[in-house]
Amino acid sequence: MGIAVESEKTSGVWRSGKAELVVPDRPRRLFPQTRAIEIRLPAAFEVRDAARLAWQIKRAGFNAILLNCFSQGFTTFPSRTMPAYGFPVQAPRPRGSDAVAAVLSAARREELTVYALVEGLCVGSERRRGPILRRRPEWAVRGRDRFRRGAVPPFLCPANREVWRFLGDLFYEILEGYSFQGLYLRHLHFPLEAPDQRADFCRCDSCRRAVWLSLGVRIHEIPDDPDHPDRYNLTSWRGKQLTGLLHYLRLRAAKAAARPLTLAEVWLGDTENLGPEATGFADGGSWAQERWIPLAAFRPLPTVPEAGESWIKRIAAMAQCALVLPVLSALPEGRLIETIERLTYEPIAGIIVREPHDLTAPPLTLLAGGPWREPTQLTEDRPIVSVCTLLSETMRMLSPDDPIRAFLGDVLRAVEPLGERWSATQRESLHDNLLGFEERIADERIVMGKAAPAVLRNFRLARQLLRLVEIEA
Ligand SMILES: [Zn+2]
Repeated sequence: MGIAVESEKTSGVWRSGKAELVVPDRPRRLFPQTRAIEIRLPAAFEVRDAARLAWQIKRAGFNAILLNCFSQGFTTFPSRTMPAYGFPVQAPRPRGSDAVAAVLSAARREELTVYALVEGLCVGSERRRGPILRRRPEWAVRGRDRFRRGAVPPFLCPANREVWRFLGDLFYEILEGYSFQGLYLRHLHFPLEAPDQRADFCRCDSCRRAVWLSLGVRIHEIPDDPDHPDRYNLTSWRGKQLTGLLHYLRLRAAKAAARPLTLAEVWLGDTENLGPEATGFADGGSWAQERWIPLAAFRPLPTVPEAGESWIKRIAAMAQCALVLPVLSALPEGRLIETIERLTYEPIAGIIVREPHDLTAPPLTLLAGGPWREPTQLTEDRPIVSVCTLLSETMRMLSPDDPIRAFLGDVLRAVEPLGERWSATQRESLHDNLLGFEERIADERIVMGKAAPAVLRNFRLARQLLRLVEIEA
């Protein structure tokens, strides 16, 4: 069918004198998709195990590692910041030299990307309070009946500016001292309770003072009625504290390294209404929607099945606002592969496999021969290269006389000499063109037949990558 593909606006941007289109030699090899795995170094880890670990990860088809650097109130590297605050240096203590440095350099040799995984506000476990809160009990989140022991793990209060400074110093040290690609922020929220439970509010001294100063109410006098305006105001005040902390940490990260990416992990329910309100996110996706986190890892609430139809739909909806990485578990056997296959046509940037898992057992030993027959590069690492790959992949799906194919050809010819230095106008223009195509494909004004889901997926992902460049710039 005939469609007007080129508007006046697009033709000016994409015209170029070059006749030959250069498509990457092996586009499939370049097909962008982040495949990250969480790694927690065990106490018995020895530096000489690093090469073997990196090799196993690569062989399973992963291209990125989230390496645990700060967990339950301990660092896994020899920190200068921790003793400066009076906290213990490191746990576990590996035999030999620095295990984090050893894993980083082994991962480099296998061409793996490594993010530092840091557990922000959660500084203990259900059983142990952790060294930080033993030393600084006034930093803790305090609920009304929260210290039923074992109910929830101990959390730092995100409204406390001393907490901000400590986390900022620690994460700055990590990015400045090691060559990580960026930070993966976990537990940037209030303690998670069962989703049907009413949110309680932190009543630590710093919250009491700040709420009195900014809202003019005393926390303990606010009624339980969820529709009471004071209660609503307190919920949104609380959300602002978390967002403020996120902004602050991103700023510190940007000062520590040249181009650090900041990923944040957010709990997500499987319906609009089941947001993890108790954790302080207004709804699971508000950070992604507001683009405070260009890269969002979504973790299903404990009650949500990660292979379920409704959760996968939620993930796809979130991919309209950010580069999305669903967090999947590798247990029980088999379900991981099924979930990855169900996500094939969703516009996600990749996936994250979380702990615990066994690299030498199914399903991880089956991935490389199954859904991951083709090796890939990271989506977010070189976003413009990934956009070009997505466009040329899409061209290959379309018939030679397809007008969208002709448009994509024009685009690639025009930007090919530019490498990764596209102008802002070109990025914006392509974004708008792709959005226009998506709308027309989705309501079948452009008929694509069987190629439609894959074309839509590629265009949506390409648009999010163009936005990432915008945010990074
Ligand atoms: Zn507090």
